[in-house]
Parts: sequence; C-alpha cells; structure tokens
Amino acid sequence: MSDKDNIYDTERFCYVCKRNEKQTGKLIKLPNDIYVCPDCMQRSMDMMNNGYFGNFDFDNIDMSYMNDMIKGMRPQPEVKKKKKEEKKEAPEPLDLKKIPAPHQIKGQLDDYVIGQEYAKKVISVAVYNHYKRVVTNTMDEIEIDKSNMMMIGPTGSGKTYLVKTLARLLNVPLAITDATSLTEAGYIGDDVESVLSKLLQNADNDVEKAERGIIFIDEIDKIAKKQNAHSRDVSGEAVQQGLLKLLEGADVEVPVGATNKNAMVPMTTINTKNILFICGGAFPDLEGIIKKRLTKQASIGFNADLKDKYDRDSNILSRVTVDDLREYGMIPEFLGRLPVLFTLEGLTKEMLVQILKEPKNAILEQYKKLLELDEVKLEFEDDALEAIAEKALEKKTGARALRAIIEEFMLDIMYEIPKDDAIGSVMITRAYIEGNGAPVITMRGTDVPRLTQ
Ligand code: ADP
Repeated sequence: MSDKDNIYDTERFCYVCKRNEKQTGKLIKLPNDIYVCPDCMQRSMDMMNNGYFGNFDFDNIDMSYMNDMIKGMRPQPEVKKKKKEEKKEAPEPLDLKKIPAPHQIKGQLDDYVIGQEYAKKVISVAVYNHYKRVVTNTMDEIEIDKSNMMMIGPTGSGKTYLVKTLARLLNVPLAITDATSLTEAGYIGDDVESVLSKLLQNADNDVEKAERGIIFIDEIDKIAKKQNAHSRDVSGEAVQQGLLKLLEGADVEVPVGATNKNAMVPMTTINTKNILFICGGAFPDLEGIIKKRLTKQASIGFNADLKDKYDRDSNILSRVTVDDLREYGMIPEFLGRLPVLFTLEGLTKEMLVQILKEPKNAILEQYKKLLELDEVKLEFEDDALEAIAEKALEKKTGARALRAIIEEFMLDIMYEIPKDDAIGSVMITRAYIEGNGAPVITMRGTDVPRLTQ
C-alpha cells in the first residue's frame, strides 16, 4: 500500500464539504480516490432529479462523470480546520494573564469613544468575564454563564462604534448584522445562521478564531413580536426563537465562503458557545413603556405629578428593566440569554464637540493631516465646532450627522487650497459653517490674514 493510501486510511474527507469521516459517517468512494459523504451525495442527486443539471437519465450515469462534475465546481475556499487537524497554523490561544483587566479595556475604549462612561464600564467587565470563561471553561465545576449583552441607545450614540472598537482592541473577529434582514429559515431573507458565515469570513475561514469572535446584531428592536399579528411572524418572534440556540451555544453547520447553504459550497461546523453576542437597538417608544411602569408603581393620587417628573427626566431610558423589554415585544427566553443589559446616553452638544476633536482618529485630525501634506495648516475656531455640533443635533441622528456636515463644507476647501501654493493656513469660522462668511486664509510667511469672499 502506498503512503498516499495510508493518509486516506486515517484522515478521509468529503471532497465537497471537507468534513472528515468521523463527522459525516461512512464516505462513499468515487473513482480517482475521491470520497463524498452521504449528505453531499444525496444533495447532488436531489439537484439532478430536480433538473438542476439538465435532464440526466440518472440510472445510466457512468460514475466517472461524477469526478469531472465535482472537479468542475466553483473554486472552493480553503477551510482551516481545527487545531487537531492543523496544528501549525492554529491561532495563539487566549491566555488568561494576557486578557486586559476591565479598567485597561475601558482605558483603551476611552481613547476612541467619548462619554458613555457607564456603557464602557459594563462592557469592559462583561468582556473580561466572557474571555475568562472562554479560557477556563469551568471554575470549580461551577459553569460561568455567557455574558451576552443587550445594548440600548439612540441612533448615532456609538453602539456599533463601541463594538467595533472593542473587537479591534481585543484582536478578535467581528461580524455585524442587521436584525431586519433576518427571517425564519425557509423564507425570503437571511436565516439566523448566516451571521456565523459572516463571522467565519471575517476570521479568514479559521474556525477556531471565529469561535472566539464577537457577533453584533443591530436593530434588534425590529424583531420584536408583532402586536395583533394575523399571519405568521416570520421576521419577528420567529427570528428571536431562531437565535436562541446560537446565543446559548450550539454546533451549527455553516457554508464556507457563502451565506447560503447549497450543495456547491463546502460546509464546516462552528460551536457558538464561546462567541460573544451583543444585540443593540434604539427601541423607539420604549421610554413610554418605562414611564408607564414607573407611574403605575408609584402610589395612586400623585400620578399627575409623577408623570410630569418622568417626562422631564432625560435619562429615563437608563431605568429600563427586562420587563419593559418584554412589554416591547422581546420574548422572555431571548432576554434570558442576554443577561447584560445597559443603555447609552443620547449625545449632547458638548459631547459632539468632543467627538469632533478628541478621539485618537478624530475626524478633524484626519482633515488636518490631509492638508498638512500640502503644507497647509487647518484650524477651527471653538465657535465653529459648536456651530457644527448644533447643526448635527438638529438632524437627530447623533454623531452620524457630523461627518456629512463636515464633508459638505470641507469640499470647497479641499478643492481650492491646493490651487494656490502661497496659502499657509486656513481657519474655519462659525460664519463659514453657517453659510454667511468665509474661512480666514493666511498666506505663507506672513501673519496677515487674507480676506476671501
Ligand atoms: P449607532 O449607535 O447608531 O450604532 P454608530 O456607532 O454607528 O451609532 O455611530 C456613528 C458614528 O458616530 C461612528 O462611526 C463614530 O464615528 C461616531 N460616534 C458615535 N458615538 C460616538 C462616541 N460616543 N464617541 C466617538 N465617536 C462616536
């Protein structure tokens, strides 16, 4: 027997889905030393019977055609197998001593995310506990629960940004998905397991890396149970139900290099036990539910006064409880699997000004750097920054509006300045932002500003 035969004896893989014999059951041998598992064989046959490959007379197929057919499939992405199968390329395992302590995680988040002190604290502790759990697996036989999170905050308050920054700092793969695109399996839309394919892609198809990653599901409020629904709620409650087993931890078969399962792409198994799930949403109208509960809880007779008090409380969202979310339409089993619940504040004018200039990759610094390459100094009057923040507040989309506003007025500057080599610096003023003045331009080698119209 040749060496090659020996390898096949010990490690045989399905040519299509790349799973080994242990996972698939007995493999079927085809000509030219090709093995296919019963599942893939069945799928191929189903497709033939359904006319996918034209009208084959299946009974009369010579099996050697099968070989060419499989070879002709689209190029298959390489799947990095788990450690057992490919020791050399396995990523460094997380070392408990190397997981940054909560205050260090928060310290790093502070460099990028402005305000949101409470959220940053909660997230740092939860992430620390989560990765401690991943590394230890059990502690004195007491299993530590998953620290999946539910994050509530207005649009543009930094929910996605917080998660993105966190994943980058921890150097773990991240998949971001929108709950609105998910539907119950079998209906139009992505089924819930598609988020795992995304994570696998972002982990360079490395299963082990993906299994330590983070999945962020945005717009989670959009899959609240529909009130008075007369038809089947395939994009609401059913999606929550579908997510349950992923949140808890399950072995899920996912396609590699695609988000849809079909017989043409290889499959691999991902265990979600150590994947950190973070759900986020703006939950419009949740404030009303919280106010109603608080008013009800208080003694009868003072209701009018209390309602007034709660109406004026701008931080009412932070008083949210699991019961309020249940009232909103999230099912109890789903909420039970997201034990870390916290809120983000709406951004104030002061915070918006800070966001413009303070984070490590602040947008103003980016523009300054761009002009620096033309040897032009870009400056902003404090009053101009406030004017930008005021404009952004009007749009009610949080910090998201800032970039659009800046891009609009910077366009002219970025176009005009490189025309004139003599320009040394540009100062952006409130008048310029408000459209009734011009930036102050100073020529090189002089301190005298040039008046522009
Ligand atoms: P959402 O809460 O809707 O997910 P995002 O996280 O997408 O909001 O925020 C949009 C953009 O605004 C981010 O890419 C980031 O640049 C900026 N941003 C929002 N909040 C903050 C914050 N607290 N600190 C710094 N930048 C922020």
